Amino acid sequence: MAKTAFVDFKAVKAAITMEQVLQHYGLLEKFKRGTDSLNGPCPIHKGSNPTQFRVSLSKNIWNCFSECKHGGNVLDFIAEMEKVSIHAAALKAIEWFNLDPEAMAASNGKDESTETRAPSPAPKATATPASLPKPAPTPAQESSAPNTPLKFRLDKLERSHPYLLEQRGLTPETIVDFGIGFCSKGMMADRIAIPIHNVKGEVVAYAGRFVGEPGEDTPKYKLPPGFRKSQELFNIDRAIKQPAEMSLVIVEGFFDAMKLHQHGCRKVVALMGSTLSAAQEELIRQHTNSKSHVIVMLDENEAGKAGREDIACRLSKFCFVRVHQFDQPDMEPEHLTAEQVQQFMEGVL
Ligand SMILES: [Zn+2]
Repeated sequence: MAKTAFVDFKAVKAAITMEQVLQHYGLLEKFKRGTDSLNGPCPIHKGSNPTQFRVSLSKNIWNCFSECKHGGNVLDFIAEMEKVSIHAAALKAIEWFNLDPEAMAASNGKDESTETRAPSPAPKATATPASLPKPAPTPAQESSAPNTPLKFRLDKLERSHPYLLEQRGLTPETIVDFGIGFCSKGMMADRIAIPIHNVKGEVVAYAGRFVGEPGEDTPKYKLPPGFRKSQELFNIDRAIKQPAEMSLVIVEGFFDAMKLHQHGCRKVVALMGSTLSAAQEELIRQHTNSKSHVIVMLDENEAGKAGREDIACRLSKFCFVRVHQFDQPDMEPEHLTAEQVQQFMEGVL
């Protein structure tokens, strides 16, 4: 196994699924299959409640809502099950799933600063942003460059935080589907970490939402330095997998998108603001055609009203656009009830 002394964790993670790993342990039949999930008792703390452990199939991650109170990726799972390091877990995975050791080995020519680590001491897969190299400062002329996918994941997030469940009214399913949770360490400490994916589904940043209403000097959202949110549309990676004939709904915020998704409106993206950048416009253009329908549903306030006029005008050059107006001032998509979203969807489909 000399060739796999330096393992490319990323390659191993990409090569195997949580489903295969559960199958390997003979646990798959204990799990109930959802649209994008597997739910069952937690094999790590050996619980019995059939809803405490959830696997997101598309994200290839797991979470235990019960005793463990955390989750992670496939390698974290094997490491927990076997009580070994991530490195040892990767070696086991290579063996169990007959992966090509050459392809899974970190070659010396590769970027050693990434997922490539020496055998010991085994690094925790859940590095906090604070322990990672800071992104290089971005020269002004590169401001339209794409964001680089992150090489780490905030895996130890507290999913069942009351802010999410009670104050925001999100269900455990939505929380796991979006991979969000309360972060206790690092740059996003004491904030809700929200992964932002690019169109290919790679995580390019975590946004940190302050829990509650921040004071004047504290930003509501924290984004990593160098991250260009104007290059991304939150949830675009999943919205584009929805049927082409379905209308694309554009909202302002993360929680607007997550709530609409929770209520069944799955083809939704968030601008992360009330304006549409040129890059965001281009993203929408690439994933629509002249028959596509887009609904602009911004907040019913001054910024939202100004934003939606401009957005409708620009998008109408290449697709059908409808502006959704709310009856009440200051209404936001996040505040719609499940029933209102259903009615809205029946009206547009
Ligand atoms: Zn557990």
